[in-house]
Amino acid sequence: MNTNTADVVICGAGICGISAAYHLAAERNVKRVVLVDPREPMTFTSSKSTECYRNWWPGPDDTMVRFMNRSIELLEQLARQSNNYFALNRRGYVFLTADHQRAAEYQTAARRICERGAGSLRIHRGQENEPPYTPSPPEGFEGLPDGADLVLSPEIIRRTFPFVTGKAVAMLHVRRAGWLSAQQLGMYLLRQATAHGTELVQGTVVAVTTEKNRVRTVHIQTTQGLEAIQTENFVIASGPFLQQTADLIGVKLPVFNELHAKAVIKDPLGVIPRDVPLMIWDDPAHLFWEAHERGELEKDEEARWLLEKFPAGVHFRPEGHAGSPFLLALWTYDTHVQEPVAEPHFAPEYAEIVLRGLINMVPGLAVYAGKLQRPIIDGGYYCKTRENRPLIGPLPVEGAYIFGAVSGFGIMAAMSGGELLAQHVCGEELFDYAKAFTLSRYDDPQYAALILEMEASSGQL
Ligand SMILES: Cc1cc2nc3c(=O)[nH]c(=O)nc-3n(C[C@H](O)[C@H](O)[C@H](O)COP(=O)(O)OP(=O)(O)OC[C@H]3O[C@@H](n4cnc5c(N)ncnc54)[C@H](O)[C@@H]3O)c2cc1C
Repeated sequence: MNTNTADVVICGAGICGISAAYHLAAERNVKRVVLVDPREPMTFTSSKSTECYRNWWPGPDDTMVRFMNRSIELLEQLARQSNNYFALNRRGYVFLTADHQRAAEYQTAARRICERGAGSLRIHRGQENEPPYTPSPPEGFEGLPDGADLVLSPEIIRRTFPFVTGKAVAMLHVRRAGWLSAQQLGMYLLRQATAHGTELVQGTVVAVTTEKNRVRTVHIQTTQGLEAIQTENFVIASGPFLQQTADLIGVKLPVFNELHAKAVIKDPLGVIPRDVPLMIWDDPAHLFWEAHERGELEKDEEARWLLEKFPAGVHFRPEGHAGSPFLLALWTYDTHVQEPVAEPHFAPEYAEIVLRGLINMVPGLAVYAGKLQRPIIDGGYYCKTRENRPLIGPLPVEGAYIFGAVSGFGIMAAMSGGELLAQHVCGEELFDYAKAFTLSRYDDPQYAALILEMEASSGQL
């Protein structure tokens, strides 16, 4: 390392730290930004995501919708400027249900989210003289509808997605949504940041010296030994290790971690067309079992839980180029709070369970039951606050900031989150959603009352 002073030291080179560096160095010309991580950039949680984005967020107010709309706006600007280097698409999220009651709830919930700023709601009942439902193109993001299309005609659902079960009675297609390459996005932002002077240091932040409650020096353990950087500004962006880093300055954070898995499975027979959106089965579901398998499971005390009803939300999207056989598949059926570790362990049966859940939505996938070809299971931690909103802004030690607790939305929130962090550090005027993301929000009795209506899974898939 050849720097012993810096304008800003950022702890963590995941998508949050990298976006913070980009917004400080490339967008605001902050000269000496140092980004510290013992790992290669973008190799912990940020390389494990499904890489999806959406402006579709529940209430109780419009904060998250406005925050994500801004992030998507910045992603679109960056995609235009980079010749879409990170392959941003806008295929949308498709929620499906076989439950008439749920279909009615879609209508109320969708109207509310659209009113909060997600766009307009178009309802399709399959009647004459109504505007037609138009599926999303597989590539590109320009000139496409926002809001959502609520399709209440099973016939339109079947015509659009013939591989979906005939039991589906309603489909909510959220339109300002899709996915991108998170790795390419991170690398693009990092390149811009380093071109504007950001220095990447391979090491671990092990101590922070403060003086009169002000950040003075950040101490880094590298393979060459202990290094010290004098700085006025220290940004904590250490993902699941936020609390461990905040301990270095004696700050307690209201965060916890849940481990979330993801399966990469193969669809060599092409049961699912490659050009579809992210598709979510939105009803609680049983796993698919043949009668003889069911009989075996009933007799097995340890495995009997596999016959129980699982929660709603099993989902997938195609991954890779047009000829790729891969699907990313996820189901959050078992999360509990846990301490993060460097090498988390995932249940080997996860891929098979997710597949057997997906069969509720795509019966054709039953051909792979018990026959998946070498699925890959990975994942990472959702570092969260109790109301599932991020932490972005100053900490009680002067010169210390945080950008994290981005749960299952860190890729989509990276751009507006990094921008907001940079506004705080540079003392600029803040966006009006800023207050809802600071640590000090919890001191506001009005906010405390607002979040009583919210859950840690609020807006989570
Ligand atoms: C299965 C799964 C699916 C997901 N799907 C999506 C999705 O579709 N869309 C979406 O937007 N988000 C998604 N996410 C969430 C997203 O991946 C995370 O919110 C995001 O990657 C978190 O980024 P981060 O920078 O906070 O953390 P990380 O990527 O974990 O980076 C933190 C970095 O800090 C470093 N660090 C820790 N301690 C120190 C220290 N003391 N000194 C120096 N460095 C340190 C670590 O080494 C690490 O590299 C998903 C996550 C998972 C697990």
